[in-house]
Amino acid sequence: MVSFRFDPVTLPASTLALRDEVRAFLAEELAAGRFTPHRNSWGTFDAEFSRRCGERGFIGMRWPQRYGGREASALDRHVVIEEMLAAGAPVGAHWIADRQSGNNILANGSEAARASILPRIAAGECYFAIGMSEPDSGSDLASVGMRATRTDGGWRLNGTKIWTSVAHRAHYLIALARTAPPGDDRRAGLTQFIVAIDAANGVTTRPIHNLYGAHEFNEVLFEDTFVPDDMIVGEIGAGWQMVTGELAFERSGPDRILSTFQLLRQLVARLAETADARSNVAVGRLVAHLVTLRQMSWSVAGMLERGASPELEASVVKDVGTAFEQEIPEIARLLVPEQASLTRGDLYGEALAQSVLSAPCFTIRGGTREILRGIIARGLGLR
Ligand SMILES: Cc1cc2nc3c(=O)[nH]c(=O)nc-3n(C[C@H](O)[C@H](O)[C@H](O)COP(=O)(O)OP(=O)(O)OC[C@H]3O[C@@H](n4cnc5c(N)ncnc54)[C@H](O)[C@@H]3O)c2cc1C
Repeated sequence: MVSFRFDPVTLPASTLALRDEVRAFLAEELAAGRFTPHRNSWGTFDAEFSRRCGERGFIGMRWPQRYGGREASALDRHVVIEEMLAAGAPVGAHWIADRQSGNNILANGSEAARASILPRIAAGECYFAIGMSEPDSGSDLASVGMRATRTDGGWRLNGTKIWTSVAHRAHYLIALARTAPPGDDRRAGLTQFIVAIDAANGVTTRPIHNLYGAHEFNEVLFEDTFVPDDMIVGEIGAGWQMVTGELAFERSGPDRILSTFQLLRQLVARLAETADARSNVAVGRLVAHLVTLRQMSWSVAGMLERGASPELEASVVKDVGTAFEQEIPEIARLLVPEQASLTRGDLYGEALAQSVLSAPCFTIRGGTREILRGIIARGLGLR
């Protein structure tokens, strides 16, 4: 039977020094009033903040210097994103490009795509969206209906993507489309394309508002959208392997643990004077879970650093991590007898309201709980 393990990671002195550097940057930003801690850190879009992160070398950190990176380790990158999320920094503009699209282009894109796009991502000036889900295709991604047909010098895309986060603000998305009809293996015949989000090229974004009324994701329509050959990611027909590789980056990070961390901070502050044995136990339990999850997430970063493919471990972190994120508002509601409110103006009430309203999506975005558990079961040889 296959098993998984989460070996502890020892951080080198250079990574600890980098943590101090990020903390100093964030303290400077806060002191200058350039951001206020956001409840929804990686859902908060702030182009200027991303540009300043780019200037400091905090985006595309692992990439070669010729593409704007600093050839840093996976542990270095992990410490930077962990600090950003813990501080509630508005990292949403560059988040997807830094976390997965840029890595995908570096590993599988053409030289033209790497040279023209990666330096702009690293500068915090180029944003990406993920074009996987469709109205009739989410968990079962092999069923995508978007068609790509050959034309002179490239491909024409037709179809619809849905739930596409930040597409209304991104410069590009990476779309998964069918370049050959499904045969016996439905996972064959799929290809990924880098598509400029440009109305003049047949791409239309339509807003979808979420439970707390924010416009964070979209429906995106493609009508004869032209994609040149050098914007294909990987081999024609190899899109499935690309997508699954990309999802390992999407699932393992501290963004799957810290979505409601700002509420936990507010809860601890709120209980400072009224804490009793019951609340101490409840908060202590949450903090103990956080510490354990954090070590698991660090362990996955260590595996990425060693060049391993920790899809199984990443799925475990996302499954347990998102359950933890959902638990924080539930515990908070039991401990503090206060109404949640997005508009009352107090930090605790707002953090609670947004956490309650966004919590259902934690176990859907990036792969649902049921799908992750299927991956884990298969990885352990259980089915
Ligand atoms: C906040 C948010 C942001 C998102 N951002 C993006 C984005 O930027 N880009 C993008 O492409 N997508 C995005 N998504 C879409 C997300 O990836 C899909 O919603 C998700 O993959 C589920 O697909 P679905 O909605 O079609 O549900 P379905 O696949 O229809 O699933 C419905 C239910 O059936 C269950 N189910 C399905 N198949 C199985 C099975 N084989 N075994 C057991 N249970 C099963 C699921 O677990 C789920 O509970 C986002 C979603 C959310 C909530």
